[in-house]
Amino acid sequence: MSWSSANNTLTVGFTHIHTFDSAPSAKDLFVGRIGFVNPGGPTMNTAQQQVFLEYFTSTVVTENNTYVVTIKDQTKWLEYTTEAAVEQAQAKWLKAVDQYRENNKGALNSEAQEHALIKLFGDVVNIYKAPRNHTGHEFQPLTLDSSGKPIAAPCD
Ligand SMILES: [Zn+2]
Repeated sequence: MSWSSANNTLTVGFTHIHTFDSAPSAKDLFVGRIGFVNPGGPTMNTAQQQVFLEYFTSTVVTENNTYVVTIKDQTKWLEYTTEAAVEQAQAKWLKAVDQYRENNKGALNSEAQEHALIKLFGDVVNIYKAPRNHTGHEFQPLTLDSSGKPIAAPCD
């Protein structure tokens, strides 16, 4: 997540691995803030910021799924560029995860976490999910059905 002045290119991707059943965390949605703000380093000009917001992706590879996060609403995403805002988002998310597990006994961690992500941040980011054990490995947008259960299905 940085500009290379030598190549005049911007790296706007972030990838990491969870080795257990899980979804991205709330922090993973906003991890790009570090590259965007670039504390202590050079700041991007407006055009560079625009490219960043347009193309930023956060990829999280978990035990069973791969998730790709992109920015849906730039104005809303920019509200999460401070550490305090991200810590608050994380705390809110953990609470919503607990609540879902309380109401849905036996639900997988990943299901509870996906639910909380979409419920709280579904208007801020797009979250795409692909199962790792399927040959197609096709990414589908994550949404909630009418009962609040997270589903990865093609757009209508
Ligand atoms: Zn993570």
